[in-house]
Amino acid sequence: MEISLCWLRRDLRIEDNAALFHSLKSGQPVLPLFIFDTDLINNLEYDDKRLIFLYDTVLKLKLKFESFSSTLLVRIGKPEVIFDELFKEFEVGSVYANVDYEPYSIKRDLKVETLCKRQKTRFLRFHDHVIYAPETILKADNQPYHVFTPYSKNWLTKFKSETTINFPSESRLENLLTHSPMEMPEPILLNLVWRKTIFPSSDIEDLVIKNYSQTRDFPSLDATTHMGIHLRFGTISVRKLAATALHLNPTFLNELIWREFYQMILFFHSEVVTHSFRASYDRIQWLNKPEDFEAWSLGQTGYPLVDAGIRQLVETGFMHNRVRMVTASFLTKHLLIDWRLGEAFFARYLLDYELASNNGGWQWAAGCGCDAVPYFRVFSPQRQQQRFDSDNEYIRRWLPEYSSPESYIKPIIEHSFARERAIGFHRKAQETNFRI
Ligand SMILES: Cc1cc2nc3c(=O)[nH]c(=O)nc-3n(C[C@H](O)[C@H](O)[C@H](O)COP(=O)(O)OP(=O)(O)OC[C@H]3O[C@@H](n4cnc5c(N)ncnc54)[C@H](O)[C@@H]3O)c2cc1C
Repeated sequence: MEISLCWLRRDLRIEDNAALFHSLKSGQPVLPLFIFDTDLINNLEYDDKRLIFLYDTVLKLKLKFESFSSTLLVRIGKPEVIFDELFKEFEVGSVYANVDYEPYSIKRDLKVETLCKRQKTRFLRFHDHVIYAPETILKADNQPYHVFTPYSKNWLTKFKSETTINFPSESRLENLLTHSPMEMPEPILLNLVWRKTIFPSSDIEDLVIKNYSQTRDFPSLDATTHMGIHLRFGTISVRKLAATALHLNPTFLNELIWREFYQMILFFHSEVVTHSFRASYDRIQWLNKPEDFEAWSLGQTGYPLVDAGIRQLVETGFMHNRVRMVTASFLTKHLLIDWRLGEAFFARYLLDYELASNNGGWQWAAGCGCDAVPYFRVFSPQRQQQRFDSDNEYIRRWLPEYSSPESYIKPIIEHSFARERAIGFHRKAQETNFRI
């Protein structure tokens, strides 16, 4: 019997899933598939919490498909090798998937596409991870935006003028292939030491979004949505979230637009993965002092807000956005350490790690990205602490040893000296021509 495969990747949900919806509409019975891609997971540490999240999510999804008398086919390996095997095991008419815009994924999909062509199997892809695919929001001259504000205006106008199309995949599950439950690989096969871990829920209360504009900047309130991990793995539909945001809070919607902006930048400028968006910044002679990087990564800079942020990140896999900005600015401007080192450190620990947003956030803070913070703006960690954690509640939560500035460890660098030095360095980079 000819079947369709629906290859789930960063869209690990049954509801409102574009590829799943289209596959279920196709007329052929659909077998959902998930591949633990060894090219990706082999780079993770054995105790990486994101792999635990992924494993748990895939298992839950499998059980859900099984409650509809179908199953989820789960394999481990290189996707092109797995597909080669699957084409021998099943008669596959079509493969459905949602587009992934990261450079690695684009290459991976090209390989699978070639295989499909050889097999005379259709490989159909749909937009699902973002509301507007990168090539949808362009300037009047059809070029991609490099500045957020006009991009977001264009995005919003389009969003408000159109009815959002949903893909009610959950209403067509009778078209799944009827199958007995298939085996789930043991965690050990993924080099994963599984342990019970609590992750943020994907249910958000409307009140959090309603109050977002007033509360989001104060790290002690922990009043942001923690949706990052769910948007990353697609355990929530961005369409659903954006529709709620439109009714409840434009500030929150704006953050979802930032996410799409960075996805778009990465798609059109894949070189940002290794290079500064502003080419001249790649000539900066970063100081990269190992002892400074060590102090920063251990949360021992003597600046309580920076230190608290790093401790929160390492202990929980989360860091509040305001504190991400301050810690990233401190590393790149106060310590003149290459943004790529900080980016890799965040990538190791963030549960909501997303290449496009992490890269965009770091380049923004370092001043070398598109629409970056101006080079002469250097966050003062003390001033940020006074404004956003005036009663030291956040700091005390993550630095229990902190009682007063006098008794805390001495700053590894003095702020006004660091500020002047950073401005001098970055001004030099500005004097040479930008690529754009
Ligand atoms: C140096 C640095 C690194 C960052 N790395 C990441 C990363 O790896 N992954 C990531 O998702 N975000 C990253 N961000 C953006 C932002 O800090 C996080 O999205 C946010 O803190 C996640 O918490 P939340 O889910 O509670 O967000 P909320 O404030 O509740 O926002 C909801 C969602 O909107 C999106 N969003 C919010 N702010 C931004 C932003 N500035 N840029 C892009 N998307 C945004 C995220 O998907 C987020 O989950 C980074 C920011 C900086 C300054």
